[in-house]
Amino acid sequence: MSFSDLGLLPELLRAVADKGYDSPTPIQAQAIPAVLAGRDVLAGAQTGTGKTAGFVLPILQRLVADAAQGSIRAPRALVLTPTRELAAQVAESARDYGKHLHLRVIQVFGGVNINPQISSLRSGCDILVATPGRLLDLAQQRTVDLSKVQVFVLDEADRMLDMGFIPDIRRVIKLLPAKRQNLLFSATYSDDIRTLAERLLHEPLSIQVAPRNAPIELVEQRAYRVQKEQKRHLLVHLIQEGQWHQVLIFTRTKHGANRLTQQLEGAGISAAAIHGNKSQAARVKALDMFKRGQVTALVATEVAARGLDIKELPQVVNYELPNVPEDYVHRIGRTGRAGAAGEAISLVSTDENGLLRDIERVLRRSIPTVQTPAFKIVEAPPATPGNRPAQVQGRPAHHAGNSHGNRGPDRRDSRRNSNAGHRYQGQQRSGRTH
Ligand code: AMP
Repeated sequence: MSFSDLGLLPELLRAVADKGYDSPTPIQAQAIPAVLAGRDVLAGAQTGTGKTAGFVLPILQRLVADAAQGSIRAPRALVLTPTRELAAQVAESARDYGKHLHLRVIQVFGGVNINPQISSLRSGCDILVATPGRLLDLAQQRTVDLSKVQVFVLDEADRMLDMGFIPDIRRVIKLLPAKRQNLLFSATYSDDIRTLAERLLHEPLSIQVAPRNAPIELVEQRAYRVQKEQKRHLLVHLIQEGQWHQVLIFTRTKHGANRLTQQLEGAGISAAAIHGNKSQAARVKALDMFKRGQVTALVATEVAARGLDIKELPQVVNYELPNVPEDYVHRIGRTGRAGAAGEAISLVSTDENGLLRDIERVLRRSIPTVQTPAFKIVEAPPATPGNRPAQVQGRPAHHAGNSHGNRGPDRRDSRRNSNAGHRYQGQQRSGRTH
């Protein structure tokens, strides 16, 4: 199957060829003809499956075929996304795939000044990509006209529900014309999603792409057993020993992301945090520096990482396992995307055994636990009289960090400090441990 079999316009085929895609992914092969035919679609597909092109390409084609009149155009396609990052990414994809057509794509989302968005909307657009809250603000101010929407897309609908957007989605739907095409994309199916789908969709084509088996197969997954308080030392060791240059690290909390970023910086590893408390400008800057290779480690929370389009990421680390097993799949989908192999590393403390089991149940396979290498603990323990002297455990010192002449401010500082504890820690465990 090739893209030209799908009935796409030459302009779109050229854009796809420019991107270097050889053939459509399964979701694209099924969704593109259905959307072109005007059908409603319910698609179970996650990030990394190529779902964005699956709805953007046929929408572009439908909009070109049905050319809008007049210079000030109200949006004819509306895409709702849960996060600003995803909104920006979808809009960028739409511009990219539509670069040989003359359609205008606008994105609007919260957390940034509304006024430039208002002026942008004044000049009209064909496709509007939005997060629900900001869209409603704009609608209330009557700066966006949704009465011409022909195609309505809910992207990552499960995530939107998790984030409490259901009342906002209902409000948005009320502003749309009754007659329209609806597309709903969701990684998972809960009862809430089913209810939403039943209300929203008219005789939809249901598409379920394999729960990301193919992408997961491309990811080399492994878990290290490590005590919670020693995770950061092991992480520093893995980054330095492996000479990783671009690693995305997931933490559970914003505070945890900030703290780990500081700790990595303290160990001489350039790092930036990306989470909901950061301004949009700070997030964009952090992501940009990471993509350019100016920052080695990007530490992110689950929600902030949604929709980040970082290609061919060599390493993803679960510094803490996610509470929701499906999030694990999302996270590791950041690596090994569209054919590139990657590694997904999980640092698992004993209190996370249950989470690991849940993840393995969802994956229907086990994640190999590999031997934890000897790593160095370079911080000074509190100076109490009862402190025991520095000790070395695990495997020998050449494994621990500074063999490449790594920048090691901690090492020098701690040598100066008579209380410094330099320990090597390594758990000699391999194979399945639970
Ligand atoms: P998505 O699931 O939409 O986030 O897309 C995941 C990644 O796959 C993006 O980086 C796309 O550029 C890429 N991609 C989408 N379609 C294809 C394709 N047919 N062949 C190769 N890569 C693709």
